[in-house]
Amino acid sequence: MILPGKTIGILGGGQLGRMFAIAARRMGYRVAAFDPTQDCPTGQVADLEVNAAYDDIDAARRFAEQVDVVTFEFENVPSETLAAIEKICPVHPSPFVLETTRHRLREKNFLRDNGFPVADFVEVRNVEDLKQAVARVGVPCVLKTASFGYDGKGQVKIEASTDLGAAWNTLAGAFATGTVGGEQSRTEAAGLVGVVESFIRFEREVSVIVARTQDEDVRCFEMFENEHRNHILDVTTVHKPGAVAPNSLARAAQELATQIARAINLVGILCVEMFVTSDSTLIVNELAPRPHNSGHVTFDAAVTSQFEQQLRAVCSLPLGDPTILSPAAMANLLGDLWQAGEPDWPAALRDPRVKLHLYGKQHPKPGRKMGHLTALASSVDEARRVVIAARDALVRKPG
Ligand code: AMP
Repeated sequence: MILPGKTIGILGGGQLGRMFAIAARRMGYRVAAFDPTQDCPTGQVADLEVNAAYDDIDAARRFAEQVDVVTFEFENVPSETLAAIEKICPVHPSPFVLETTRHRLREKNFLRDNGFPVADFVEVRNVEDLKQAVARVGVPCVLKTASFGYDGKGQVKIEASTDLGAAWNTLAGAFATGTVGGEQSRTEAAGLVGVVESFIRFEREVSVIVARTQDEDVRCFEMFENEHRNHILDVTTVHKPGAVAPNSLARAAQELATQIARAINLVGILCVEMFVTSDSTLIVNELAPRPHNSGHVTFDAAVTSQFEQQLRAVCSLPLGDPTILSPAAMANLLGDLWQAGEPDWPAALRDPRVKLHLYGKQHPKPGRKMGHLTALASSVDEARRVVIAARDALVRKPG
């Protein structure tokens, strides 16, 4: 058991680590952040910030020597780095979980081999493979890079009229130039591995965050409903338990997430993103073994946030109560909102139910997650209306 006063090392210094660090420091832990970029969102609120590349094994070893346990908020840490850290201190979730979930093909094979529902998929390594895969899976389908993709980056939708050579080149080009995967993908460009998966005509997208300890205690948060815009999460809503009765879909989604957490031997938290089809079938889209954007709402709306739950799980403390206390909604704030100047914060906060979270990022680029708003209200529809109105109010009107 890793008790308050000890130091938690977190690999990755973005907003997920920042909120994790806030939760950990609140419980009296020290936090050390490892990230290549100085003044990272996590480093700003951590006790210690170490800046080094993820493949700098010596720096990773020195980091591991200063902490009592290592967890992460970023998946693309090289296996060699994790192996070096694991020789010095515990890593939760395990490197096996990280390596499985950061690679679409390994993840989908793991899910399919364990009997979990996934979209039909085929591995592709060149245009010839792609042609055969599209013929097998059928159109429409989606071509994705096996590694580094997120928020729709590294994805091309394929229709009957799509030029497959061009589609492959688009992805290979994004990989080779680092548009997807940065420096790491540039060095792996020759070995681009893709996945073709059938296009799911889903009715809704949902997610469940599950926590599991070494003692095999498991707790799930309520099912989140997620709306995306340009492939990026836009708005999440969550019901209070029992508010939608009988909610067999939510229970099935939680059961699925629990089974996956057990099958992968999770210690930590795991977000399971799922599609819901018109006949209420659940299909797993992606796994993320760390806090997830759809769970940000738990910071304000749950007895225990996803960040505190991750801390408890990796420290072998008893898990907290994940109960959602009120219908709630979360709206992401992307860098696009800064295009007309600094957003009008007081205008968004005029409704006292609105909570503002900003991640301390200096450069508001379009599509970059800069912060989010949360609102608790008497119904999910009302909470959703409140966060969207508050976000609209941020943009200054000309004149
Ligand atoms: P991903 O990066 O795989 O989570 O994909 C980002 C978003 O693209 C998802 O949240 C969906 O909205 C959409 N998407 C991804 N894969 C599929 C699919 N197989 N069928 C339909 N939509 C998809």
